[in-house]
Amino acid sequence: MKYNPSEIETKWQRHWDEERSFEPSDDTRLPKKYVLSMFPYPSGRIHMGHVRNYAIGDAIARYWRKRGCNVLHPIGWDSFGMPAENAAIKHGLHPKSWTYENIDYMRRELSALGLSFSKEREFATSDPEYTRWEQQFLIEMYEKGILYRESTTVNWCESCHTVLANEQVEEGRCWRCDNPVVLKEMPGYYLDIVRYADELLRDLERLEGKWPAQVLAMQRNWIGRSEGLAFSFRFSDESRQKLGGDDGGFEVFTTRPDTIYGVTYTALAPEHPIVKRLIEKGLLPEETARRIEEIANMSEVERARQEKEGYPLGLEVIHPLTGGKIPVWTANFVLAGYGSGAVMAVPAHDERDFEFATRYGLPIKRVIEGGELPYTGPGVLVDSGPFTGMASEEARRAIIEYMEKERLGEGRVNYRLRNWGISRQRYWGAPIPFIHCPGCGLVPEKPENLPVTLPDDVEITGEGNPLESHPTWKRCICPRCGSEAERETDTMDTFVQSSWYFLRYTTPRRFWEEVPFRREDTDYWMPVDQYIGGIEHAILHLLYARFFTKVLRDLGYVNLDEPFERLLTQGMVLKEGAKMSKSKGNVVDPDALVEKYGADTARLFILFAAPPTQELEWNDSAVEGAHRFLRRLYERALRVEPCDALAPIDHATLSKEEKEARRKVYEALKKGEEVYGERFTFNTLIAACMEALNALDRQHDGRVWQEGVWIVLNLLEPIVPHICWELSDRLFKRNNFGLIEVREEVFQVEAIPMAVSINGKPRAQIEVPPEASKEEILEIARAAVPKWLEGKSVVKEIVVPNRLVNLVVK
Ligand SMILES: [Zn+2]
Ligand SMILES: [Zn+2]
Repeated sequence: MKYNPSEIETKWQRHWDEERSFEPSDDTRLPKKYVLSMFPYPSGRIHMGHVRNYAIGDAIARYWRKRGCNVLHPIGWDSFGMPAENAAIKHGLHPKSWTYENIDYMRRELSALGLSFSKEREFATSDPEYTRWEQQFLIEMYEKGILYRESTTVNWCESCHTVLANEQVEEGRCWRCDNPVVLKEMPGYYLDIVRYADELLRDLERLEGKWPAQVLAMQRNWIGRSEGLAFSFRFSDESRQKLGGDDGGFEVFTTRPDTIYGVTYTALAPEHPIVKRLIEKGLLPEETARRIEEIANMSEVERARQEKEGYPLGLEVIHPLTGGKIPVWTANFVLAGYGSGAVMAVPAHDERDFEFATRYGLPIKRVIEGGELPYTGPGVLVDSGPFTGMASEEARRAIIEYMEKERLGEGRVNYRLRNWGISRQRYWGAPIPFIHCPGCGLVPEKPENLPVTLPDDVEITGEGNPLESHPTWKRCICPRCGSEAERETDTMDTFVQSSWYFLRYTTPRRFWEEVPFRREDTDYWMPVDQYIGGIEHAILHLLYARFFTKVLRDLGYVNLDEPFERLLTQGMVLKEGAKMSKSKGNVVDPDALVEKYGADTARLFILFAAPPTQELEWNDSAVEGAHRFLRRLYERALRVEPCDALAPIDHATLSKEEKEARRKVYEALKKGEEVYGERFTFNTLIAACMEALNALDRQHDGRVWQEGVWIVLNLLEPIVPHICWELSDRLFKRNNFGLIEVREEVFQVEAIPMAVSINGKPRAQIEVPPEASKEEILEIARAAVPKWLEGKSVVKEIVVPNRLVNLVVK
């Protein structure tokens, strides 16, 4: 019988479909496992990264199913987003048909890999019945003050024609198209993630040891909690008059209150409202004003790359402690998005402030003793009024306390994390369900009118928001007063959809019209026991999903603090050392691989080539090797005598080779527990199975073969399911798919080989019983070397257990 993967694979895929083999049970008394690989964006075709992601998840899901667990292993589609619109612009296709056709195609591709997904719980996030609940969440968040609309400076990508969240700006560039991001003022909707910053930070501790340390560190940094002092600089009387009288001053935040006596200037961001006012009032030289506006429109990267640049604003503030007058500047390194867009500058103790002061000849005042300036370490305060002589740490506390008592400022915790801007000015997204009424202002849509769906008849040109230019879509009636009003045309960031999709899967689809998900289902299934995805989601998706879960908890939807119990971040698939990409032309098409070798070979290769967390280098000959192994397994297994149950084997009566084969088989079985349950180093388990097969081949006992194949097929089923179902069905009626107990007797060693040396020179080999005492070992050793002991006296005896005996003789 020849191994024919396509025949076997089609047969079993059909069987699994017909039997609904992978649908979770509604019986909540069963122990549960929720195994989830991050869902794909329906870009058109699956790539090797997908194969890796889903092969890992599938192996874990299949393992727990065999252990008698009720397993939820779902798949869906993260189907809103820009590529659909780009396809529309490029090929004239409608984003909706492009998306859903891609889903159909990719579903077939995934299906051909034999992945054990629940088919009944599949959905796409662009389905209106999904949008309906998301819009409801937003309205409830608005009512709780977690969602708000505000006009502020935002990150704008010129090439994507949309706003980006801070998390979507990577080193000043758009995460999607890599164009430099510019800052722009416009209204948008924000989710108050900062309100949850402390909890998001604190709960990372619970994930310690269960999430990769790197991901935890990245989230900690991104949240960026710092403690310090917030206080205001008040304008001098002359400056206040100059500005028109109503400006008291501006607020700054510092983590180094101990250096406050060293402030010699302050600096505002070029987009700070005070700078704008000066320009509007014509209070700055024309040339300077023009340059400041230029800087304000630059991307953050551009600004960071440039030399420090700034201009005096002709204003002065009063130092809150010394009463001295301090000049106000604007500087390119102060960003509006961080803190309040204003900083106190202490050139003696800050590198950046020092560089700027040196360039513009501003005074530098040392207030901390220590090394050469700029000195940024802690030390004893000098020239600092009543705080002189204190150490930095003590002075920090004392200065905050004093400023609070005098109502000059307050101790504050600051975060690097900014609120999440969810407005996008694009068509293919979930509409934000609000209405602008000339009389009532911003009004949420009524629940009975949800979902607010997208119009199908749009023209997508890439210029502006198609919802904005649609002739009728945005015209509506105010839900509150009934007068004519306008619908919001912003759509949601697609990361909103991926922030709760894992909750949706927990509820059977027959309830999806009634509820987003049922409480009893999330109580049973959540948290996700094992989540699997790429490290690129370390901040964006994983932070948003954690935040969303906490908000839904506070809205009463779930009883849960953290959504993902354990996280595995898989490494990239490389070819010739580079990430596979169309532009590099080094893409391996999974379809072609499945076509040529079968799904089992593709899955075996991808799990064998590297541990899941490491990068995987593509290797054609290793694919061949994986295929050869399966062919050999198939052909050899079919020579085993079929049986319904294993006959007992009397281990003691077996030959050395037979014992060795059993030992290898059970070693693999032990490894299986550790690999599937804990470590996910599938490569080591596959290697152990290969060794077991080799050891089986060196003996001829039919029962040992039977037992070996029984166990190996059980162990490999999660990795190469089709071939294992086929063989197990034929040979064992699949009775080998249950829990198999380890037989400890096979690990009992009968004799330990040891070397015997005389004066350090090896002279003989002996075998000793494992339980032999030192005296017994010496007795056996002496008996093995009679001729070296003749006429000599033994002066020293050394026994190195399990290794050697050395006799020193004279
Ligand atoms: Zn972009
Ligand atoms: Zn109204």
